[in-house]
Amino acid sequence: MIIMKSDATKEQIADVVKEIRKYGLRADVSKGAYRTVIGLVGDESKIPFSHFAVLPGVKEAMMVETPYKLISREYARMSQGETGNRIIKVGDVEIGGDEPVFIAGPCAVESKEQLFRIAEGVKQAGAHILRGGIFKPRTSVHSFQGLGAGGDEEASEALSWLREASNRFGLPVVTEIRGEGQVDLVAEYVDIIQIGARNMYDQDLITKVARKGKPILYKRHFGAGIEEYLSFAEYMVAEDNRDIILCERGILPLGKGRSYTRYTLDLAAVPAIRKETYLPIIIDPSHAAGRRDLVFDLSCAGIAAGACGLMVEVHYNPVEALVDAQQQITPDELKEVISACRGIHKAIGRRNRD
Ligand code: PEP
Ligand code: MN
Repeated sequence: MIIMKSDATKEQIADVVKEIRKYGLRADVSKGAYRTVIGLVGDESKIPFSHFAVLPGVKEAMMVETPYKLISREYARMSQGETGNRIIKVGDVEIGGDEPVFIAGPCAVESKEQLFRIAEGVKQAGAHILRGGIFKPRTSVHSFQGLGAGGDEEASEALSWLREASNRFGLPVVTEIRGEGQVDLVAEYVDIIQIGARNMYDQDLITKVARKGKPILYKRHFGAGIEEYLSFAEYMVAEDNRDIILCERGILPLGKGRSYTRYTLDLAAVPAIRKETYLPIIIDPSHAAGRRDLVFDLSCAGIAAGACGLMVEVHYNPVEALVDAQQQITPDELKEVISACRGIHKAIGRRNRD
């Protein structure tokens, strides 16, 4: 990391960036109100820091040996002089701002009618963003894989319904991409691209998605430690995309035999991650619980732990859903969740403890 003097000129900053490139690394230039900080992206062991320390305009040059730094509060503090939570704007919606954000919709888009009926329901319940899976990650090849499995034409048609529903109900939309081949197509239609838990570790995929420059909803893998999760989020910020919404969706549960929950919602990860990074974090109570009767409680707990929003699966008739029927709630139940979570968020107040 190179910290420039507060009176460093543009030319001096450009010279340092050029010098960094000579060593095969990239530079993340963060211009703060007080000074410019340049983060190095790549293998820092190649850099002779003593040489950089004496370049014109440089105040300090040092090696930072953490696996993530561009997303850290410390980095923001150095350049901006503050820890500033990142507020991600999607249309009129702010994620990470003063109000909690609610993302809701079906697990899978099944038909235009199903999607529109649910979109209307979640809008009335107070949701801000519509979700709906078109490329579903499934354990069994024999189960419904989402309408995207039918080919490009079917995928485009389903994506166009999401766009239409978005326009009709005034809800930005998010859908998951499962592979690199889907990135260009999906980016044409949606406001936020989701990277599912199973793909958290896919460097090539997450880098490709980040380059689209759109906000990304990035789920934690169910076996990933917090450091690993944040280290992979760093890959996307290294592509100069800071619009990353983190999402805790449950880690593998302990115990033998029948488990009472699908995963274990890692509530402590929420405040722990907030201490580390300025990126917003939401929780997904639906996949964590795998049970509709636990969604209300986990939602409240997530907001109480400091999450800035929720992603909840909703269906007007959950039992008939083709995927995850056991965990979807109705629009009326969503309304209760939103109302309770708003109250909890307000009671907690604006956070300045991060
Ligand atoms: C989803 O949100 O549709 C999903 C499949 O979740 P996860 O990646 O967390 O399993
Ligand atoms: Mn689901």
